[in-house]
Amino acid sequence: MTTPTLVRQTRPKPTSRIPDRSIYERRESVVRSYARAIPRQFSRSDNVWMYDNQGGRYLDFLSGCSTLNYGHNHPALKQALINYISADGITHGLDLHTDAKAEFLEAFESLILKPRGLDYRAMFTGPTGTNAVEAAIKLARKVTGREMVIAFTNGFHGMTLGALACTGNAAKRTGAGVPLNHVSHEPYDGYHGPDVDTAALLERRLSDPSSGLDAPAAILVETVQGEGGLNTASPEWLRAIAEIAKRHGALLIVDDIQAGCGRTGKFFSFEGMGFMPDIVTMAKSLSGMGLPFALTLFRPELDQWSPGEHNGTFRGNNHAFVTATAALRKFWKDDAFEQDVQRKGQLLAQRLDAIAAEFGLSTRGRGMMRGIDVGSGETAAAITSACFAAGLIIETSGAHDEILKVLAPLIIDDAALSAGLDILEETVRTVLTGSYGVAAE
Ligand SMILES: *Cc1c(COP(=O)(O)O)cnc(C)c1O
Repeated sequence: MTTPTLVRQTRPKPTSRIPDRSIYERRESVVRSYARAIPRQFSRSDNVWMYDNQGGRYLDFLSGCSTLNYGHNHPALKQALINYISADGITHGLDLHTDAKAEFLEAFESLILKPRGLDYRAMFTGPTGTNAVEAAIKLARKVTGREMVIAFTNGFHGMTLGALACTGNAAKRTGAGVPLNHVSHEPYDGYHGPDVDTAALLERRLSDPSSGLDAPAAILVETVQGEGGLNTASPEWLRAIAEIAKRHGALLIVDDIQAGCGRTGKFFSFEGMGFMPDIVTMAKSLSGMGLPFALTLFRPELDQWSPGEHNGTFRGNNHAFVTATAALRKFWKDDAFEQDVQRKGQLLAQRLDAIAAEFGLSTRGRGMMRGIDVGSGETAAAITSACFAAGLIIETSGAHDEILKVLAPLIIDDAALSAGLDILEETVRTVLTGSYGVAAE
């Protein structure tokens, strides 16, 4: 059976006919990464599709690592931004009060915080996720007067020194070039298998004055580990961690940069679990249209900064405020979108479980953030490149890049979701039964 293909079903008018990409070899640093496995030059994108400059069309199951939860160039968001720019709205204003910022804060308060009974202050950090994490751990250290942060095995929190110290992956950590200190990486939920309660291990270490573990300023956790392999923490485990943080005077930080903004089926990935983080970091899909925008949220009592103590030129990305506000109004005014994401999350789970069952593999994840463990990075890479050849953009995650990670836009319709999963299914079958290479071209 040949792999179904999505490529070249339509031929959008190419914006450029020059397939020569040598400029990247000549001038772009070799640090580039995604472009290696996805060697095309893209011209435009809409909804769940990306188009290259040679007429190729690709279904996007990567979504900018969950930055494009509402798809590419959503018409409502795009129009709001066009209107704002056309009216000469403020583009850059440091952290000055602007109409766009006020509207965002009002919408965030009325559509997100109030309906969920959450009382958080919002801190606009520099516009990347890692900056929101830096602010969160800085604040926790300042408020508690402690240095040590507890992070977890396979956690990913960003690439600047403080956040990188909290990140598990050795290849990423090596890039620091200096010791990454003041963080202890404790086993995440399930790290030692289903029978070992790693929250109890942590409690034991923290309550034993001879364990060697210093009293922590914060416990930093992802409810689903996006880059670390789609490992999920159970609500019970997370509640236990929240209790441990409270008991030991540490602040609980949930890094919701990848799992937030609806990815798990709720706006915040920790909703309905019976605990409230002290601090929450957000970025990726927050602007809704892929514009850089990050927030650190915290309980009002923790707002102990001095003015300008954590600063940044691009804290007020007004264009991102505009698209973020439009996204909140469009998708979060009632629970219809959440319901739909939860429904599609079930569909996705069923399809991935069926593929995994056929080959004795296992699945991971929650909501619309799920994947299949195919056992090795080589196998996963063979599958993702065959998917790409068939018109599906999909990436991997995990300690060995062994998890095929489905991060389809949340707005995807059932037909496109099925079409993408058909390709994934056939490709997994083709690669795992060794017939890849025959079907690929
Ligand atoms: C992507 C990510 C970050 C870092 O965000 P950047 O914008 O790349 O700095 C931090 N934490 C998690 C969970 C992420 O997925």
